[in-house]
This record gives sequence, structure tokens and C-alpha cells, in this order.
Amino acid sequence: MKAAVTAEERTSEVISYDPATGEEVGRVAVTPVVAVVRSVSDGRRAFAKWKSTSFAERSRLVMAAREVLLAEMDEVASLISRESGKPVAEAFSMEIAPVLDLMQYFARNTEKMLRPAKIGIGIYGLMGRSSRIVYHPLGVVGIIPAWNYPFSIPLGEATMALMAGNTVVIKPSELTPMIGLKIGEIFEKASFPENTVQILSGEGATGAALVEAAPDKIMFTGSVATGKKIAAAAAKNLTSVVLELGGKDPMIVFADANLDLAAGAAVWGAFCNAGQSCSSVERLYVEESVAEELTRKIIEKTKQLKQGTGDQPDVSIGAMSSERQIKIVEDHVEDFRAAGAKIETGGQRNPTLEGLFYEPTVITGAHNEMRAMQEETFGPTLPIATFSTEEEAIRLANDSEFGLTASVWTGNRARGERVAQSIEAGSVCVNEVLYTHGIGQTPWGGFKNSGRGRTHGREGLMELVQPQHIHVNKLALMPDAWWMPYSATAVKTFRKMTTTFATGSLLKTIQLLPQLWKRIKELL
Ligand code: NAD
Repeated sequence: MKAAVTAEERTSEVISYDPATGEEVGRVAVTPVVAVVRSVSDGRRAFAKWKSTSFAERSRLVMAAREVLLAEMDEVASLISRESGKPVAEAFSMEIAPVLDLMQYFARNTEKMLRPAKIGIGIYGLMGRSSRIVYHPLGVVGIIPAWNYPFSIPLGEATMALMAGNTVVIKPSELTPMIGLKIGEIFEKASFPENTVQILSGEGATGAALVEAAPDKIMFTGSVATGKKIAAAAAKNLTSVVLELGGKDPMIVFADANLDLAAGAAVWGAFCNAGQSCSSVERLYVEESVAEELTRKIIEKTKQLKQGTGDQPDVSIGAMSSERQIKIVEDHVEDFRAAGAKIETGGQRNPTLEGLFYEPTVITGAHNEMRAMQEETFGPTLPIATFSTEEEAIRLANDSEFGLTASVWTGNRARGERVAQSIEAGSVCVNEVLYTHGIGQTPWGGFKNSGRGRTHGREGLMELVQPQHIHVNKLALMPDAWWMPYSATAVKTFRKMTTTFATGSLLKTIQLLPQLWKRIKELL
């Protein structure tokens, strides 16, 4: 579903190009500011009805959207590949399959996850009081995603928001507008009510207009710089935001790890989506004694990878998304070179291909003082550094402004879990890498500059609702001791409360009863 734009409002267009061939994929009119504002008010009107639908009805519609996607998945995979440059293989494995799983999970489990829950209130419970939490949807959720997972991120967030009873307005990245429209089409074909899902088109200015239009929540995925702008703009209306930002994710490999597996994981973790994953392995720290062996295995595996257009089934590394992105990679590889690191393989644009292709690049002799080990690269580079002790590995991994994900590789699970808990990152895998965004059941989000709040999992669902506390006094027969007017007896009672009632101990509270009764009698 696309936000309605009248002929007079049509001013300029966003044109989408295939980064592998430079061919136009499609074009769409930029949503004017007035229509952005209208999309939020239309979404709010739709919310008035949608919030009262049953979970069963929402679930039926989400499962219907799932069926539409399943029926059209080849077409969707091809569109994702053409518009973002990634191989069709990854469109299936890293976008379509995970989001289908997320859809079935939240369609089936949101009701249970948002069931009113009783809260233990200690001694107040013995006084005939009870408390429970009920969850209300927020209203209109504005979703502003990046281009790197242009399908699964906004579709997953929209599914969770809708299941919680919100309506959504999505402003897809200007690099992937056609995929954005496809998401709207899927919901429309599944017969979601009008304006429960609206898709805008445009660049940053359209995203900014959406934030200005004061939806009830912003779910943003993108760079730290834009995240800060959005947080500042949203603050004007006290709109709460979830920020999913950048990463510089470390992978630690201890000498007792399975080095073949670690090498395969490093190659996939660094080079899938041409390195344009927020949770890409961007720094590899290997224990000195096995550094040579692991590096050799990584280089061998990297050299076997075919690069090319995403429609070829045996292509592992596709095109990068934009000239701007490839220039950052060139700058970082230059920084590594100039600072004395060694480019073992790659280190250039692919000379045999026309489009935006940068060769997968393995770099040795890297260390944290190099600028390119601190800034997010977001490209197919794998810099390798060494360490000699567990403490050093942890210190090097944590020496970053980012903290999205990390991975620890070791044959000793206890050590793996110990190190994982010492790493400042929102998700840490032991003997696994990168893929947990694909597990919709688990929370996703960063420490430090990698973000605020969570998407996915129970924690992500809680971002999309507001908790309401309902408190009931089942024995409303007499006044509370702390009501007015106060008196000397009141002060004595309250003073005693601090050392008896406020301890949470039933035994101590019983000692308060005579004094409490004296005080209540005063009020009767
Ligand atoms: P970006 O910040 O340039 O743009 C992201 C989105 O914000 C786009 O839709 C853009 O149009 C919009 N936008 C730009 N300026 C805006 C403004 N002032 N107000 C509102 N919206 C605005 O990021 P990008 O280049 O598209 O994405 C790359 C970044 O995204 C990387 O840093 C990557 O790590 C991060 N990312 C993070 C996650 C995560 O889950 N943490 C996932 C994917 C990507």
C-alpha cells in the first residue's frame, strides 16, 4: 500500500539502479511533505479500528501476507538481488527465509507474549491489593530502514508492529524504493485494511518529514550520524525511537578452536552481502600461535569465491550498493596499506567486472591504532590482528565505539561463554557468527554507539507497546493509613513503617499492626 499522492503533489522521482549493471530497476514519485503528514494522520485513523481487532484476525492477515510472499518469492528474490546487488542465494537465505520465520512466530505468539500479567506486590497483596500489566499498542509506528537488508528489516518490524495492534508508515531507503513498494503490495494483496500499512518514497528529507509528522514511535536502522539527527528531531515531540546503528564487530579465535570452521565463518561473516551487514566481521583477532594457519585457510577460501551479478547461482559476492560505499572501502584499504598492514588478497575494484564490484580483501598485520580498525567499513574487508592472552583479546574487542555483535571461537565452551559475557555487544555468539538477526525470537540491538532499544524477540515487541498498570483494591472498606489529615500518630506510624513494612518482611510488618490500627481509627 502506497501513501496516496495526488497529480499536483507529484514533483520529483527516486530512480533505482541495479548496482551490478547500472540499469534502471524502476522509478517512483517522491512523497511530498503534505502527503507524509497525511500518511501519519491516515495511519492514526486506521489505528482507531485496527487496535481493536483480535489477535486471531491480525494473525490470519499476517499469515495471508506470508502466503503472498511464498507465492511470489522468486520474483521478490530477483528484485532484492537487482536493487541491492546481493546474490539471489542471499536474498533467500538472509532475507526471505528469516522474515517468513519471524512472521509465523509473531503471528502465532504475540497474543501469548502480550497477555496481561500479574505482578507480585509483596505485602500490599496481603492488604487485598492486586496489580497487573496490560499492553496497549502505541498508534502509528514510523519505520525508516537502511538499504542493506531492504526487505527483511522493514517487513519484520512492520509485522511485529501490526501484530501488537499498531499501524505502520515505512520510508524505505532511497537506494531500494522498489523493494519498499513490494512490501506494501504484499500487505495489500493479503487484504490488510486501508492505511494500516503505508509506504512513502524519497530520500533523507522524506524520512525527516516522517519524524517531524510525529508518529508514535520511530524504528530507525542506519548510520550513527542519521540516528543522532533522528533522535534530536524526535525529541521535539517526545517521540520515542529505537536506533539500530552501525557496527565494527570483532571475531575472536582462540588456538583451541576448530580452525576450518572458524575460517569458513570468518569468510562468510566478513563477505556476505559484500560486507554490507551491520553485524559483519570487521575485525578478526586470532591467537598468535595459530594466526598463520588460520590466515592461510581464510585466504584459500576467499580466493575460491566467485564475484559477479547476483542472478548467477554460483556467485558468492555481489556488487556493492553505491559508489559512495565503495569509496569508503577504498579509503579504508588505503589506510591499512599506509599504516603498514599487508593486503593478502583483493584490495581493489574487480578489474574484470563493470559495476560496483570490490574484491573480497584479506588484510594481515592490522592493529587497533589504525583508523580503519575503528571506523565502520561496511564492505568486503577482513582485517586480521593477533593477541596472546584472553584478557588482551577482550580488551582489543572492546576497544571500539561500537558494540552490535561479536563472536568467540574456542573448543572450550566455558571459556567461550565467559569471554562472551565480557564483550560489550548486544549479541555475542560462541562458535557462530553474524546470523542471529535471522532468529526473530531473539532480541537485536547494540551497546554503545551501535544503538538504543531493541528489535525482535520479546524485548523488541515491548518497544511497540505501552504497558499499563491496573491496580485494584479488593478490600476497599477503610481509608489508607497514609491519607490526610496527618497528625503526631501519623508521623509515628510512618516512621515505624520505614523499619517494618518497608523491609518486605511479613514478620516485621505484623509488629506494625497495632500502630496501624490506631492511625486508621483516626481517619474513620
Ligand atoms: P543512512 O543513515 O544513510 O540512511 C538510513 C535511512 O535513513 C534511509 O532510509 C535514509 O533515507 C534515511 N534518512 C537519512 N537522513 C535522514 C534524516 N535526517 N531523517 C530521517 N531519515 C533519514 O544509512 P544507510 O547508509 O542507509 O545504512 C547503512 C548503515 O546502517 C550502516 O551504518 C549499518 O551498520 C547500519 N545498519 C544497522 C543495522 C542494525 O541492525 N544495527 C542494520 C542494517 C544497517
